[in-house]
Amino acid sequence: MKNSIIGYPRIGKHRELKFSVESYFKGTMPVERLLEDAGALRRKQWKLIKDSGLDFIPSNDFSFYDGMLDTANLLNVIPECYKKLNLGNLDTYFAMARGYQGEKGDVKALPMKKWFNTNYHYIVPAMEDSTQIKLNHDKIFQYYSEALEYGVKTKPVIIGPFTFLKLAEYKGRKTLNDYINPAIDAYRDIFTKLNELGTEWIQVDEPILVTDLTPDDIAIFHAIYTELLKEKGNLKVVLQTYFGDVRDCYSEIAALGFDGIGLDFVEGKKSLSLIREVGFPKEMILFAGIINGKNIWRNEYRKSLVILNELSHYVEKNRIVIGTSCSLLHVPYTINNEKDLSEKEKIYFAFAEEKLTELAELKEIFAEEDYTNSSTYRNNVSLFSERAKDMHSEVTQKIESLSERDLTRLPVFRERAGIQKDFFKLPQLPTTTIGSFPQTDEIKSNRAMFKKGQLTPGQYTEKIKEKIKECIGLQEKIGLDVLVHGEFERNDMVEYFGENLDGCLFTQNGWVQSYGTRCVKPPILWGDIKRTEPITIEYLKFAQSLTDKPVKGMLTGPVTILNWSFPREDISLREAAFQIALAIKEEVQDLESNGIRIIQIDEAALKEKLPIRKADWHSEYLDWAIPAFRLVHSGVKATTQIHTHMCYSEFEEIIKEIDSMDADVISFEASRSNLLIIDALNENNFRTAVGPGVYDIHSPRIPSEDELIQVIQVMLEKIDIEKLWINPDCGLKTRGIEETTASLVNMVKATRKVRQLLNQ
Ligand code: GLN
Ligand code: ZN
Repeated sequence: MKNSIIGYPRIGKHRELKFSVESYFKGTMPVERLLEDAGALRRKQWKLIKDSGLDFIPSNDFSFYDGMLDTANLLNVIPECYKKLNLGNLDTYFAMARGYQGEKGDVKALPMKKWFNTNYHYIVPAMEDSTQIKLNHDKIFQYYSEALEYGVKTKPVIIGPFTFLKLAEYKGRKTLNDYINPAIDAYRDIFTKLNELGTEWIQVDEPILVTDLTPDDIAIFHAIYTELLKEKGNLKVVLQTYFGDVRDCYSEIAALGFDGIGLDFVEGKKSLSLIREVGFPKEMILFAGIINGKNIWRNEYRKSLVILNELSHYVEKNRIVIGTSCSLLHVPYTINNEKDLSEKEKIYFAFAEEKLTELAELKEIFAEEDYTNSSTYRNNVSLFSERAKDMHSEVTQKIESLSERDLTRLPVFRERAGIQKDFFKLPQLPTTTIGSFPQTDEIKSNRAMFKKGQLTPGQYTEKIKEKIKECIGLQEKIGLDVLVHGEFERNDMVEYFGENLDGCLFTQNGWVQSYGTRCVKPPILWGDIKRTEPITIEYLKFAQSLTDKPVKGMLTGPVTILNWSFPREDISLREAAFQIALAIKEEVQDLESNGIRIIQIDEAALKEKLPIRKADWHSEYLDWAIPAFRLVHSGVKATTQIHTHMCYSEFEEIIKEIDSMDADVISFEASRSNLLIIDALNENNFRTAVGPGVYDIHSPRIPSEDELIQVIQVMLEKIDIEKLWINPDCGLKTRGIEETTASLVNMVKATRKVRQLLNQ
């Protein structure tokens, strides 16, 4: 019996790597020190993993920035514009990651994309016609040797050729097919070299296999590996998949000559049934992804053993390697870093380090004839039964008793639209913003002082009210039509609501890499979510009291709160979303009864957990995510206008579902995606009024009045004037106050100009 992990976090237990790399960026850390620190970090982790008793210890899962970018470098996929800078290897690498602006030139970074259904982002490799895939450097071998010298025999891991080619962008006339043979050659060279080094196993990650594949894709995959596996010598190759199941190509995979296959039994709904139906090849090792690599809850051994026991009917026990469902990159380092959580809570969590212990325990238990007597097993069972006893709640009943009526807003959209038109009497092309205004140093330091107890709640509230007053004044002066209070009381749109709802926990050090040196600290949904008291009412009421114009109440929606947190595993995502929806709904009702006439419920992360496979989109996700949003606002009056806002992704594919959220107005981040979304709106007869961002708030650039007039006119060619709103493409909190004011002034002027032109 053995155990394995697919990869380990790499940013450092205290984010050491982040700080070293950022110091290097700033020029305050010499390269030698950076390399030294990174080496020390790698060795520390290898030792820790080895000491836990793990059998398959990964190497080359380390990265200074991103694993896809590492692979691009390894394969010489370096666009000309970066080569031309003539920087050293490491600086070229960082130039691709974050752009370069200096004496040697000015180039933008490569684009970044979401890594499958995680909140991690990878750098998208760019293939140019001149790109020559070949082995470019020897880091993977160095890391292997480094570990070996240190006394740790590792399993190098690498992103496989198929996933790499599928995720790359093709810039010239050449397509994926043109790079297949060079990629095979390069990977063959890697195999050969590892063979020479005496490496026993290599893990080749092919997560793309859990996405919807065409017969062509499968043929390419098959061709690549048929070639590659021919000359692997003594090296054993495990094909590693994660984030789902390989239903489109399991038979093909099984028939190829891999030494091991890694399957995900957590997110891979069909993994078990594939083995049941097709079987498992006699000589192969099954790397069974049993422990959730994406969530922070302790593993429930009883459930894991049910899977392992069934697997053992198809695969001999000694050919099963117990592992994680995906790399541990997606969870924080260790619960021991948490001082504020109680022991009673902590005992339920397993971060990366604790998952190593679980792997050791599971290995031991599974090897026993009758594990039901094992104390480790029994303790685990009682841990979960204790929790089950604690988690009885009225919320569950409330959710069960919801009917279609609770999810439906009446009167219907068209009727409401007419009522609201008369009620608000807004000008054509109403102008507004997405919610937040610049978070100045003063605001941040006030919050820090408040948290340290240096400001009383009363003093802090007063300071925020001063800011709200300034902000309302500014917006009136600029001439915006629908105002906001500015969100000065919020650090983060999810954390703020989490902190004000019962049932959420926060870690002090639960950092997870989001991209490069950036980490996020997701809240943990611990228990049933409840609103114990109003959250935003006081500030909104105050803001509205300062002006005759409508002030938009600003809330974060249930799906976004859920998607940016670690969810519970003892209830479904649907149930969790509905719990949050009920809590936010109470806030909506309170805002309405306190005179707030427009309420925006942000769903910035609506698409984040859309299943990887299209066939699962509705049944697994949209069928509850959209109703959860509707539940939040279904109870409001016809004269209360509901807005929502979305960003960070491409929405074209789910436009119809977005329309059925039944908001009155939606704003999109659209200024960067070339208004592509507008065409999608038209094709789908989108009925919700829309505010596709007229300028990009992610850059400090101030759009000119003329430029904005043009943007609005282009939009008007495609969107009915009665439906178009004018706004920036996202919240303004990361911008400076000067550029924000200048941009909004231009936006309002441009809008007035267009109104004038239209009425001539
Ligand atoms: N209302 C939020 C803000 O303006 C929306 C943020 C977001 O979409 N990410 O900051
Ligand atoms: Zn946004």
